[in-house]
Amino acid sequence: MVQTKNQTILTRSELAEIDKKHYLHPTTPPKLHYLQGPSTIFSEGKGVYLKDIEGKERIDGVSMLWNVNLGYGNEELAEAAKEQMLKLSYSSSFSGQSNEPAILLSQKVASLAPGDLNVCFFTSGGSESNDTAFKLARFYWKLKGKPERTKIISLEQSFHGVTVGATSATGIEGFQNFTTSNAPNFLKAEAHALEAELGDKNAPNYSRSIRGVIEAEGADTIAAVIVEPIQGAGGVRFPPEGYLQAVRKLCDEHGILMIADEVICGFGRTGKMFGVENYEVVPDFLCVAKGISSGYAHLGAVVMREHIREVFVKSDEMMFHGFTYSGHPMACAVGLKNLEIIERDQLVENSRIRGEELLRGLKFLESNFKHVTQVRGLGLLAGIELLKDPENGVPFDPTDHAAARYTEICMNLGLQLRSFDWKGTNTVALAPPLIITKKQVEDMINIMSDALIAFEKQV
Ligand code: PMP
Repeated sequence: MVQTKNQTILTRSELAEIDKKHYLHPTTPPKLHYLQGPSTIFSEGKGVYLKDIEGKERIDGVSMLWNVNLGYGNEELAEAAKEQMLKLSYSSSFSGQSNEPAILLSQKVASLAPGDLNVCFFTSGGSESNDTAFKLARFYWKLKGKPERTKIISLEQSFHGVTVGATSATGIEGFQNFTTSNAPNFLKAEAHALEAELGDKNAPNYSRSIRGVIEAEGADTIAAVIVEPIQGAGGVRFPPEGYLQAVRKLCDEHGILMIADEVICGFGRTGKMFGVENYEVVPDFLCVAKGISSGYAHLGAVVMREHIREVFVKSDEMMFHGFTYSGHPMACAVGLKNLEIIERDQLVENSRIRGEELLRGLKFLESNFKHVTQVRGLGLLAGIELLKDPENGVPFDPTDHAAARYTEICMNLGLQLRSFDWKGTNTVALAPPLIITKKQVEDMINIMSDALIAFEKQV
């Protein structure tokens, strides 16, 4: 039951009926939803715990969409939002106008970002950040007198968002094929083809590697390469050792700009402040969102290196790019407070330590349960694979939707996770809030263990 403002009390099924009728859900099969209504209606959250409308409590083991890094119901963030809303609820950043939270957040992000990634352009989320980076890369080349450098290379199985540009860069097939046409000048390369990127022409996938694509298209037509330090929605796919460094070197060889999509990895998720720091790489653009505000406000940013800004400020050209909510004062005030808490409470360090415990727990599950394999993780970003017969590499039948089935069992037992049943892989993703305690990590593993017992009985 829910009390609405006008005092009517709506039951779950009444809310579900309204939802079915009026609410078209993102990343949801419309037909199924129209028939069945919402799978869960969340009503409350505190710390790492979520409650649904029926009062069932669960640990959020994936920070909802890998974004609720400080957990739910954080009073300091709520206070920061309220204070700023009452002081200055909105102001634009167009025509050089500014506001204090946006100014201070740009300074804070610059101080945290590696190398000379010192200049921020604010957005409302990850897709906008990536689209902005694509446009700024092309703007850069236009100003450098090389307007023919327009193409963007991204990786298969990547996810960069759902605006037209970000979808066009995304490598996951379902998103690519959702509509009948994507933007031109977006090219795909095989993900993590290390040998080829290092220059081994005999590598079997050479022609499909970033290097191969650059050679086929001509380096002077390429604006930028975009990579996630660790692929998230593609199935928590880690690059082989040396891969990001090889991509950086390859970009430098050809004067191509490198964009790191840190929308998931940024702000402590991987046990370092930024994912690229695990690989000691400084990209030209660093795209962030999610963890910059822990999901308390719609906020993202593109952080760029000094040499990019230098080109912009030498020209008289106008920045014909900007969102109504670029530098939103409330969102930036929340972002600032969020980063202050991450630093004060040493949550990047907590992510590293709890991450090691989580990985140990997952390895325990791997050695005790037949279907669990390919356990991997860094900080509080982890994944496991479910295989029908891991010893002989036999996957589940795609119609089994094994990962979705398993995460549904976990959900019923009190743990929210995410599943990716892409192309013969059955991945379960884990990314709990950075505030998680040792005991709560143990609780997650215990629930996963109970869920595996139930899963084994089903399959
Ligand atoms: N990049 C990555 C790596 C993401 O995981 C996501 C969202 N899951 C996005 C971009 C898009 O972000 P948003 O949904 O905020 O537009």
